[in-house]
Amino acid sequence: MGIIMKGTEVARAMKEQLKQETEQLRAQGVFPQLTIMRVGARPDDLAYERGARKRMELVGIECNVVELPEQISRQELEEAVRKVNGDPKVHGILLFRPLPPHLNEEAVIHLVDPAKDVDGMNPENIAKVFSGDDSGFAPCTPQAVIRMLEYYGIELQGKRVTVIGRSMVVGKPLSMLLLKKHATVTICHTRTVDLKETCRNAEILIAAAGSARMVTEEMAGTGAVVVDVGINVDPSGQLCGDVDFDAVEKKASYVSPVPGGVGSVTSSVLAEHVIKAAKMAAGKRA
Ligand code: NAD
Repeated sequence: MGIIMKGTEVARAMKEQLKQETEQLRAQGVFPQLTIMRVGARPDDLAYERGARKRMELVGIECNVVELPEQISRQELEEAVRKVNGDPKVHGILLFRPLPPHLNEEAVIHLVDPAKDVDGMNPENIAKVFSGDDSGFAPCTPQAVIRMLEYYGIELQGKRVTVIGRSMVVGKPLSMLLLKKHATVTICHTRTVDLKETCRNAEILIAAAGSARMVTEEMAGTGAVVVDVGINVDPSGQLCGDVDFDAVEKKASYVSPVPGGVGSVTSSVLAEHVIKAAKMAAGKRA
């Protein structure tokens, strides 16, 4: 039976450190602040927003939400982003995506000030992740996977790591973060021919495909570390990951559940990034 990697435990451990850091900043007159920008009211966004607000409050970060109508024009949205960019009290901006189809997401992403882009969407931050430069912000979910592996003491250097998924939100940036930790990374996707074999050969297998329970027992190597990033709803309406947890748990040395896994660490990483942004802004003013 594998050890269950509990995201809530990782988040609890991070909370203490983050609280200390915000207290130090407050003592210096710096009040870390996150602004969430939400267009419309998608249930996923609202759920994440609730979790993020709670997490910010727990660690001493001020959090406010700019709610924008679903029918907002591109110009109005760009104006709203510029306004938050220019507000010196705001250290971090989280813009929920996907945006409604009539808005040009690419253009808006380019607009978010890279120094406040705490979910690593702006091409400037993505370029930093790809060049191994720590001075920017990686997207929170891939960074949460790294925090989880660190918390459980999983060594990455020289390890065969397979990532299923090559999106710009999870798979690709995660692969770059793993490479920076000197892992030997294989990226799989829908056109991968020998998926089963490539997964079974991995010492660490990370699933970010968005396909309910696609990682079966035979795809996990004996003793492998299996991290599940997927969030899916199965045909019976149950929330589940990309990993067939019950089957894989028997073979793996470590396995992360859904819910209660990587998703529970993401908002802590968001808080970590807001604090980093606040420190950077304070450093610039000093
Ligand atoms: P995406 O659809 O943009 O990308 C999925 C990737 O997986 C693609 O590159 C595709 O080629 C690959 N893929 C899909 N099915 C596959 C298959 N059967 N075999 C091999 N490769 C396959 O999705 P995404 O935005 O990268 O998100 C991936 C999953 O992670 C989703 O379930 C999403 O809900 C979840 N997610 C979780 C969090 C979190 O906080 N835990 C955050 C973001 C995304």
